[in-house]
Amino acid sequence: MRLSIKEPVPQLFEAWELLSQAADAHLSGELKSAEALIHEANNPALWAWLYPEWEKCHLNVIDKLPHGDTTPVPKSERDTKRFLTSSDKVALLKRDGYRCRYCGCPVISPEVRKLICRLYPAAAPWDENSPTNRHMGLQALWLQFDHVVPYSHGGCSDVQNSVVSCALCNFGKDKYTLLQLGLEDPRLREVVQVNWDGLNRLLAVATPPTKLKFPTPTGSLTVNPVRPIGTYFIPGAHISAGYLFTPPIAGKERWFKLGPEVEATQADRRGAVGCVLKCAPNLLIRRGLSPDQFADVP
Ligand SMILES: [Zn+2]
Repeated sequence: MRLSIKEPVPQLFEAWELLSQAADAHLSGELKSAEALIHEANNPALWAWLYPEWEKCHLNVIDKLPHGDTTPVPKSERDTKRFLTSSDKVALLKRDGYRCRYCGCPVISPEVRKLICRLYPAAAPWDENSPTNRHMGLQALWLQFDHVVPYSHGGCSDVQNSVVSCALCNFGKDKYTLLQLGLEDPRLREVVQVNWDGLNRLLAVATPPTKLKFPTPTGSLTVNPVRPIGTYFIPGAHISAGYLFTPPIAGKERWFKLGPEVEATQADRRGAVGCVLKCAPNLLIRRGLSPDQFADVP
């Protein structure tokens, strides 16, 4: 059994990081810098990654008729409520956070995306009719809600049968069942809360103000234009092809793209092999890691 239709790639987290930096830059009044970061997050490599599983969902099926699976039910027997209500969505975001329950990638709500597209139309294109003419970072991180048991199989449009999902996990799953796709039920895994607000912090300053449809989680990131650098030791981490990869921490691996402001070297501390990472503490916070917990003590 697999966790998701497709494993997230480092470019996805890179786009997330760039968009998050763009939000901070926008909120600090550095609009040119925000625009450049949004432009950089529009990475065509993400479409190459999304495309096959997104456009040809039937190819995601591993077993057409698995033993003991649910089957389509007549329309007359389906839930009379086709879509989730706003209060269902609020409850789901409170439970799951702004994170896909299948693949674990962070997500950004359509309200925030529309605001970014309105503020930076050249850097953030969005053609409703053509997935290839959309900002690829925003598309890959698109917040959606998925019926775990398909609606057509009698799955209800309620909180119990729904999870927060990214676009690929929702579109790639399409009308198929977990068994057909060989997917684990994401509801059986504990929710890993991360300190990520889905960029809702942008909505609070939008002009004219954009109605905040969904709640901002408590403890969401504060804007900090000054970026102090911390030194951290991550046991078991390794460096490969310009990235630092952590081992699973609370069940999830993380990536850090190395560069002028994110440096890493192999090191050992009291017999544990890993990496020393020098970067802004908020890079750890965005990945659900505590800077205090990983503070390096040479
Ligand atoms: Zn996903």
